[in-house]
Amino acid sequence: MSATMEQASPVSSAARTDAPPAILLDKVNKWYGAMHVLRDINLSVAQGERVVVCGPSGSGKSTMIRCINRLEQHQEGRIIVDNIELSDDLRALDAIRREVGMVFQSFNLFPHLTILENCTLAPIWVRRMPKKQAEELAMEYLTRVKIPEQAGKYPGQLSGGQQQRVAIARALCMKPKIMLFDEPTSALDPEMIKEVLDTMVMLAGTGMTMICVTHEMGFARQVADRVVFMDRGEIVESGVPEQLFNDPKTDRLKTFLSQIL
Ligand code: ADP
Ligand code: MG
Repeated sequence: MSATMEQASPVSSAARTDAPPAILLDKVNKWYGAMHVLRDINLSVAQGERVVVCGPSGSGKSTMIRCINRLEQHQEGRIIVDNIELSDDLRALDAIRREVGMVFQSFNLFPHLTILENCTLAPIWVRRMPKKQAEELAMEYLTRVKIPEQAGKYPGQLSGGQQQRVAIARALCMKPKIMLFDEPTSALDPEMIKEVLDTMVMLAGTGMTMICVTHEMGFARQVADRVVFMDRGEIVESGVPEQLFNDPKTDRLKTFLSQIL
């Protein structure tokens, strides 16, 4: 049984609504060729806020969060991250990428580097951190995600759950202000899902601004300040988890919930 999921009280929110938003999407539209995949997306995420994004496959969840660090480019509207507007300005893009950590469904670790090297690569080459300091930092985060003893191994020697925790530690080594998760547990065997969710709950407790695409509704109830439901490129409903899950307003959300719960 999952202790995390049984916990009654949610992690208390650290959201700061008095400060400028950490992330702002203003009437964002995106097409792939003729296919309209993001339709007038408006989303404001406060500093320290935790937002869970859910919705059917193909609804545009990955595209939306990938637009936030410009792994994909939107064509209309504005995206402002940490007070910097995304544009073709490469310096602005560099600045944003430094502040935003991302964790994918498929871990994306470098297979030929050790766990420690995976974690120190970007701090050394992007942040220009001395190697020893980067290694100390990496060990600190590997300890936080409870796998310091794996530091000398290669990704292929670790379980999926351990690899995903390395991916989280690696992102944290860049000291991001914002973390984006794209279905981080959906490639994992059930017994490994909890260890990754526990790591994300720990992170939520640190006040990190997070957007998590996930269908783990127990996690959403425990951690999310807000859940956003997407369908066919639109944000159809959003609200606190209780409201969204217990009192869905649209047939689209009712149908979706009946399929996943
Ligand atoms: P989700 O993450 O909600 O499953 P995606 O954002 O991955 O949805 O996809 C939204 C839509 O865009 C889908 O119809 C998908 O097939 C399409 N799509 C995603 N990536 C690409 C791409 N690189 N080129 C063309 N179409 C894409
Ligand atoms: Mg996706």
